[in-house]
Amino acid sequence: MQKWVYRFGGGVADGDATMRNLLGGKGANLAEMSKLGLPVPPGFTVTTEVCTAFYSNNHTYPDELAQQVNDALDLVGQSTGKAFGDAKKPLLVSVRSGARASMPGMMDTVLNLGLNKDTVEGLAQLSNDERFAYDSYRRFIQMYSNVVLGLDHDRFEEIIDDYKDAHELTVDTDLTADDWKAVIEQFLSMVEEELGKPFPEDVYEQLWGAINAVFSSWMNQRAIVYRRLHDIPEAWGTAVTVQAMVFGNMGEDSATGVTFTRDPSTGEKRLYGEFLVNAQGEDVVAGIRTPQPLTVAAAGENDAHMSMERCMPDVFNELVAVFDRLEAHYRDMQDIEFTVEQGKLYILQTRSGKRTTKAAVRIATEMVTEGVLDKKEALLRVDPQGLDQLLHPMLDPNAPRKVLGTGLPASPGAASGHVVFTADEAEAKRAQGDRVILVRIETSPEDIHGMHAAEGILTTRGGMTSHAAVVARGMGRPCVSGAGSVSIDMQKRTMTASGHVVHEGDIITIDGSTGSIMLGEVPTIKPEMTEDFSKLMQWADETRRMRVRTNAETLQDAKTAREFGAEGIGLCRTEHMFFDEERIMVVREMILAEHEEGRRYALEKLLPYQREDFADLFRIMAGLPVTIRLLDPPLHEFLPHTEQEIQAVSRAIGVPESVLQRRVQELHEFNPMLGHRGCRLGITYPEIYEMQTRAIMEAACDVYSEGMDTTIPEIMIPLIGYGKELEMLREVVTSVAEEVLRERQVPMQYLIGTMIELPRAALTANEVARHADFFSFGTNDLTQTTLGISRDDASKFLGEYQGKKIIERDPFVTMDPEGVGRLVEMGTSLGRSTKQELKTGICGEHGGDPSSIHLCEGFGLDYVSCSPFRVPIARLAAAQAYIQAQENM
Ligand code: PEP
Ligand code: MG
Repeated sequence: MQKWVYRFGGGVADGDATMRNLLGGKGANLAEMSKLGLPVPPGFTVTTEVCTAFYSNNHTYPDELAQQVNDALDLVGQSTGKAFGDAKKPLLVSVRSGARASMPGMMDTVLNLGLNKDTVEGLAQLSNDERFAYDSYRRFIQMYSNVVLGLDHDRFEEIIDDYKDAHELTVDTDLTADDWKAVIEQFLSMVEEELGKPFPEDVYEQLWGAINAVFSSWMNQRAIVYRRLHDIPEAWGTAVTVQAMVFGNMGEDSATGVTFTRDPSTGEKRLYGEFLVNAQGEDVVAGIRTPQPLTVAAAGENDAHMSMERCMPDVFNELVAVFDRLEAHYRDMQDIEFTVEQGKLYILQTRSGKRTTKAAVRIATEMVTEGVLDKKEALLRVDPQGLDQLLHPMLDPNAPRKVLGTGLPASPGAASGHVVFTADEAEAKRAQGDRVILVRIETSPEDIHGMHAAEGILTTRGGMTSHAAVVARGMGRPCVSGAGSVSIDMQKRTMTASGHVVHEGDIITIDGSTGSIMLGEVPTIKPEMTEDFSKLMQWADETRRMRVRTNAETLQDAKTAREFGAEGIGLCRTEHMFFDEERIMVVREMILAEHEEGRRYALEKLLPYQREDFADLFRIMAGLPVTIRLLDPPLHEFLPHTEQEIQAVSRAIGVPESVLQRRVQELHEFNPMLGHRGCRLGITYPEIYEMQTRAIMEAACDVYSEGMDTTIPEIMIPLIGYGKELEMLREVVTSVAEEVLRERQVPMQYLIGTMIELPRAALTANEVARHADFFSFGTNDLTQTTLGISRDDASKFLGEYQGKKIIERDPFVTMDPEGVGRLVEMGTSLGRSTKQELKTGICGEHGGDPSSIHLCEGFGLDYVSCSPFRVPIARLAAAQAYIQAQENM
């Protein structure tokens, strides 16, 4: 006989974690925990094969199913000491969906199933709480009627609202057991009126109704759309898990809680959890009551009696043993939900816990020391994107501050911004370029967009595992939660703390590492790198194949990048050096000159500035490679634009306004992205590139004569579209470079290469490579010129302007694999087909994006180059990319 039902609970299980396909993620995990001997509420899973059979047999079930379900249900009853439908000791169950891949919120769930007019009395007796029993019953009727019977949720809410109005009650908690009984009567009549038959009293009818509903929800619109978006095949089907309900609100020997096996903020190895006596799970998460700490250590001596360690010592010890088992079994920090029902412990869920990056780094490195993980596994445990959190500023400890109050240090880091009280306001202000702190009593999933827009989040209620705390840590936003001394007046849009009234729009600072809330903006300082961080980075450096360079032209950027471990400069955009106040006038003088002679005269004046800039960069990079790109943008970008600016420039350099205006118009590029700029400018005005080459080579010789490690300068020509362009300019550059070396009598190497940033260059890379020592892929321009926008980045498409698509250059956007990625891959292999030793790298913003770095590893690039703050991210991402590439070989 085929097995359609898999049981779990009581230390045994028919299935295990490997049976995801058959039991769904949830069912497999429950079986695994049960097999480990953990006290999970007993239950059973109806397999995904039943789902498939249901759909292929005209919505009917296999013959043996009913018997298998009944048998399993009897066993659940036996192991809980209850029975399904029993009027004295009723077993209640939850019925949930569970597919192979998690599909949160897409399918249906029914809780408290098994309640009817008789069993509700039994529940009241068992729990010694009549109100709780009837409240559960009415919730069940609402949920079941909605999910299974298809009645609108609002119909029930209306009845409750009318009842409250008629009896002058305000909130649901004002309703007593008798009130709920009256409401339930109305619910039941309404259902009967609507459906022409009564609400099912028979608990088996209830159960099959719910199982049907879950299987049917596999084909609801939400689920179909979700599957399409996430490439989940319809044929997978869902499983249905039926599990005994347990209640943490059955008296003073009942409780419910949440724990992390290590501190999710710092990574420290200590139990980090909260619980509430006589409460339901949602009370802890929603932050309606302030939870108690688990351990005496966390409670402190004065409040030790509040801790679970003191008030439920036996359960506490049992719990600690479970935590150890779970962490050892899953080899990762766990986030565990548990319930104690009348002195008996149940584990409801375990999963890898969300953590701050600081904690992730510490946990990963410590687990290597503990012998739990090897270095490669540890490297894969940290999300590179999150390293950002560690590199950003903390409060300057010496800065003066006015503290308004403190809350819980829920997510580390400091942030300042204008106070806003709603998520929408946060988003609107952010869109105007303001930095905001979102202040809420507590947050809910509806606030996510505002939390994302905010620099930091402050809540007056809720613990370290409240919604605000968990979500903020996940997003890397600083968060202070449960600041009970702060009161919010939503009407007046103010918050009051320590007698101080803060209005919407005022600036405050929060420190999510200490919980402190301060008035005004408090200055910040650079964070220090922890030992764990350095250790992890060192492992990354030992592991990766690709080098990591930085995009930098200022000394500050170059220094920062070196501190963060950059192994050279991959892109120095020389034009940025032209905008300095002193120089811009000379640049303009050069541009405005009518003849070559005038241009050369002005360029002579620019030369010493450029030489000094380059020499400084070479000194900082001390022998590491430095790629300097010759002038790239169209000349009009350097000229004044407005009438006033034109007047000012005319006065300053003594050129009549009319001449200036004419020149600005002449130089104006209609397509500034592809026109007279980059190498094409270099071809019409070779003297510009000659000056820059001279400055680079002289600077290198100067640094060489100082006896320092010698950088091999890499001179890069931008915007090449044709091999011929590069051939011409290579001659220009070589002749000046050789001239300098002859003058200086220095035996120095140098390379001449190009950016591949136009599709044409990538497509003809075999030709271009004949004249290049290296390629650097400019994925910014490649993204624009290929309209490189991947499916997931549709929001980055900003609109059209003069027929041209405008795409935001967002450093976090992943390289579009179909357009840009393909060109980079093609450019690399075509280039190498001509010249095997061709050096290849990437210097567009994607060089700092982890998923793009994975693509680059696959293309076999030699290095990535990114902005200084992304260097550690790139080092880790490159290591991960290498490890995964090896694993897939
Ligand atoms: C590029 O196009 O990717 C590039 C690095 O050049 P820029 O961003 O200066 O156009
Ligand atoms: Mg470019």
